[in-house]
Amino acid sequence: MKNDFQRALRYLRRACFLKCPECGTKPVFLPILKTRRLSDYFTPLDGCPRCGYAYERETGYFLLSIWAINYGFGSILGIAIYCYLEWNYYLPLPLLLVGVITPVVLFNFLFARHSKAFFLALDHYFDPHTKDGSGGDGGSGKGNPPRNPIPAPPVNAPQPVEPAVPV
Ligand SMILES: [Zn+2]
Repeated sequence: MKNDFQRALRYLRRACFLKCPECGTKPVFLPILKTRRLSDYFTPLDGCPRCGYAYERETGYFLLSIWAINYGFGSILGIAIYCYLEWNYYLPLPLLLVGVITPVVLFNFLFARHSKAFFLALDHYFDPHTKDGSGGDGGSGKGNPPRNPIPAPPVNAPQPVEPAVPV
């Protein structure tokens, strides 16, 4: 139990610094100064160059990180800002909307990388995908199994029947 708690803290600490959840040494994203496009900012690397941990297990893997973690924390922040402004200042509605929406959008942009790193940490904690299933040993160097390629359709699969053309 204590080891699990320490392991969870270790993964969350690595996520705070945007490091690989498995070995904790290599970054999950390109450094900001090396990003050339906006998508470089948001897209994690394919995997860890040190331990081979695959960051994106499958297509759409990080959807939950954006929908749950990033938008979730953004919503909590928005509600908190709204309550603070509503209770302390009597702002007109347009100014109140600007005062709430602007910091939330900025927060969502800046927190996008961390939300993916936290999601990686949570997923690695609850469902480690190392070869030995040990759940992270600080970089054993064993790496992860490669992603399964998309299976080709069987050769003798029934072919779709073309509809008869009326004459
Ligand atoms: Zn690593």
